[in-house]
Amino acid sequence: MLCIKCGIREAIHKGLCENCLWDTLSIDKPGSITFTNCPKCGAVKVGNYWAHHEPQERWQKKINELFKVNEPFAITSLTPVELNKIEDTAYIRITVRREEAEEKTIPLEVPYRKEHISCPTCNKVTGSYYESKVQIRGFSEKMSEELVRIHEELLLMVENNQKKDPESFVSKSVQLREGIDIYLGKKKDGDTFSREIQSKTICNVVVSSSLAGIKDGKQFFRFTYMIRILDIEPGSIIFFDGVKYIYQGKRPGGIFVTDLKDGKIIQINKRLIDFDKLKESGEKAIRERFIVLDSHNGEASLMNERTYEQIILTMDIEGSQVDLFNYEENYYRIMGE
Ligand SMILES: [Zn+2]
Ligand SMILES: [Zn+2]
Repeated sequence: MLCIKCGIREAIHKGLCENCLWDTLSIDKPGSITFTNCPKCGAVKVGNYWAHHEPQERWQKKINELFKVNEPFAITSLTPVELNKIEDTAYIRITVRREEAEEKTIPLEVPYRKEHISCPTCNKVTGSYYESKVQIRGFSEKMSEELVRIHEELLLMVENNQKKDPESFVSKSVQLREGIDIYLGKKKDGDTFSREIQSKTICNVVVSSSLAGIKDGKQFFRFTYMIRILDIEPGSIIFFDGVKYIYQGKRPGGIFVTDLKDGKIIQINKRLIDFDKLKESGEKAIRERFIVLDSHNGEASLMNERTYEQIILTMDIEGSQVDLFNYEENYYRIMGE
């Protein structure tokens, strides 16, 4: 059967020959192409969504979907839009195939525009947006090295999370006399951090929330994680449940204290530590170094390295020197690091 249109060549599809069939090819293309990216973070707008991960690839994929051809043709490839171009036209070459047969490459021109708009995430950061606030406080509401270290840990955690999720960011960090307040873009980060810190050290966490407004038609709450760290300095004289101790230090499982009555170091389990039962007296035991002159049969003869004063204690001491806490003229062992 000959082609119903030209009547010359053999018909191959719906009564048309190969040539006349290609004449029916119609390509649907977008009226214009806009490439919108954020100058601050490089995110690209893909439809109504801002892509932060592989933004250019996702944008190109979305653009490709805007090109269509009629039956029995199919698009096999499209050259990518040259993003660096200053020109206002995108030159694209589209390759179309008819079923498993012939393939043709056709040049296309589409009006092209580039824009720079700050993305919603960057707007949030610069606008001091925050969903949660972490308050790092010490036991006595003053700054300590431990608080500085914990603050750095939080910043590092958020920085790592941001690689996967741009909504994770530190909006601001405010250093106060009594501690540090950190404002976070994502509620979950405050949540995760306060849980992690509780497993790593002795602290008290109080979570509170307040209505901050309406977001996407829903009530929007801000969360505050008040983390109070037990950062008492070793050697401090404390009261726990009314009993006086020398504070030796802490481990994730609890705190270690010296009972002043018998000089023994005991552990108080984390679960028993209620911050309201714990008080700092304000006094401190003095750490002093001694040279061990002699030690045997449970009796040690020591000399104070600074004052040369000699003392005898009823304990065995190994090694040639030892550090002890001195409190009210009594000497107590110091827990090893
Ligand atoms: Zn024909
Ligand atoms: Zn951005």
